Amino acid sequence: MSKKWKLTDRTRMLLQLELAITLPAVALIGFGIWNLKNIQHDQFIEAAIQREFRHMLQIAEKKSWMRVDDLVEPAVKEFPNINEGETQIKADLDRILREHPEFAYAIVYDKNCHILVSAIAPSREHDEDFWEHAQESINSVTTWLPIEAPSMSEHLRMAAEKGDPYLFYGEWTTRHRHHVYSNMAYFLPPGVGKEEAAFAMLSFDEDYLRDTFFPGIIKDVLSSRTSRLKGDASLPAITLHRPMDPTPWVASANWDGGKGEVDYAFDDVFQGMVWSIKYPGTTIADIGARFLRYNYAILGALSLLMIGGIFLTYRNISREMNLARLKSDFVANVSHELRTPLALIRLYAETLELGRITAKEKYHEYFRIIREESERLTALINNILDFSRIEAGRKEYEFKETNLPELVRSTLDSYRFQIEQNGFAFEENISRDIPPVSVDREAIARSLLNLVNNALKYSKDNKFIGVNLYRSNGTIKLEVCDHGIGIPPAEQEKIFEKFYRCGDPLVHNIKGSGLGLSLVRHIVRAHGGEVHVESSPDKGSKFTIALPIDPARMEAAPA
Ligand code: ADP
Repeated sequence: MSKKWKLTDRTRMLLQLELAITLPAVALIGFGIWNLKNIQHDQFIEAAIQREFRHMLQIAEKKSWMRVDDLVEPAVKEFPNINEGETQIKADLDRILREHPEFAYAIVYDKNCHILVSAIAPSREHDEDFWEHAQESINSVTTWLPIEAPSMSEHLRMAAEKGDPYLFYGEWTTRHRHHVYSNMAYFLPPGVGKEEAAFAMLSFDEDYLRDTFFPGIIKDVLSSRTSRLKGDASLPAITLHRPMDPTPWVASANWDGGKGEVDYAFDDVFQGMVWSIKYPGTTIADIGARFLRYNYAILGALSLLMIGGIFLTYRNISREMNLARLKSDFVANVSHELRTPLALIRLYAETLELGRITAKEKYHEYFRIIREESERLTALINNILDFSRIEAGRKEYEFKETNLPELVRSTLDSYRFQIEQNGFAFEENISRDIPPVSVDREAIARSLLNLVNNALKYSKDNKFIGVNLYRSNGTIKLEVCDHGIGIPPAEQEKIFEKFYRCGDPLVHNIKGSGLGLSLVRHIVRAHGGEVHVESSPDKGSKFTIALPIDPARMEAAPA
């Protein structure tokens, strides 16, 4: 009956544990792994970083357009009226170039009046290379001017009507084996008539673009960036270069060579320019792999924690269930233990009451039985009371200086008769060099009785009880030995737990509550000592109570 109850209850608990904790936990972990696998398969992280990179470069492009407008607009506003005459125009152009060092040269052309004025920035006047190049550009412009000018100015006019007054032209050139990016803005100067084939051009200073303009844009883009995927500790590196040639023309300070992860070709104002971006010192693939590794590790750690938690919960619940079972066994055991002596006492008392007993020995025997049974009852009830006090934390000990040999002897004396009556050989060795110790007399006596009583109960044919009291290494040892059924090693620690009784069927036929040894241990520990057992099945057991000697007493009675 009890076995069945235990089995179903355990299964139910396992099921509950499974349903309530294990299943959701396993599902959560499984979902986590599935998710990570998907992320890995779809290269989600890599794609997100690439998207972010592309977005940054688009912002860089927009910013560069806006800044170019900001530079060109004020200079254009100062442009001379086309009808002012060549000298004035030239003077104005020189002034504009002087005041706006971001531009290297400028041209104003009017086909009708055959005006072509060009000017070069004063900072470039002594730069022969530049002169050569500027002159070349101006010359090339002059060769196509007469033919292209009408359509050019028409084009500009139409663009201006749409609100975009500038046309930009950017190109890579090679000068003395250096790649140079030049950029020119074409627009209609003030005073140009409706049908007139006239326009003006302002060319950016290449060094300004390379050393100031683009580094500024890069810095701007990087500093305004708030990364969602990586901390700021590792900002991306950006470079810009010619198409098909990754050699950087301009690069951010953290550029560490090699190729970018995302390339983006600028359009319109800065056509022909390619921007590249990457994380220095790592690759997107690495970042993706690291993300996955990190998440797998977290998942692994969580799984371990979860397994640990489930294991602990399972163990605790098991323990609680065991305790519940032990308690219910305890109630059954105690009721049984109470009933038997009470039945005996009543039986013998009734027999005596009838007054039919004449033999004096019988008379005495009945009284003895009644006394012994009532003593057993008292001992049992004392155990239960003590136990309930201990459980409630209300057990108090009355420590008094005690002569232990005397206490042990007198305790055993009241039991000796019963021991011998039961056919036990009894041996008692009490050493003389025991110093007085401070103990609770009653508690220690009860511990000894519990041990002796167990020795009586758990012995079969080889009936022997030995009690030794001696001094050893600063402790006083009180041993109770028997040659009884013994205790299997696996249960030797458990027997000191409350309600625990050995699984041996033999034990279950012997009355007991499973409280005795737990009380003994509690009492001994309250005295600063320890109790332990040495036992082997079918050979016998030896329980040893070790009590510390007060150091001040050490010399009083040397060993
Ligand atoms: P009880 O004797 O009332 O069952 P105890 O706490 O005194 O409770 O003992 C716990 C268990 O330890 C016993 O049920 C028994 O299985 C085992 N035990 C205790 N003393 C002995 C002994 N001397 N020999 C064999 N087994 C013992």
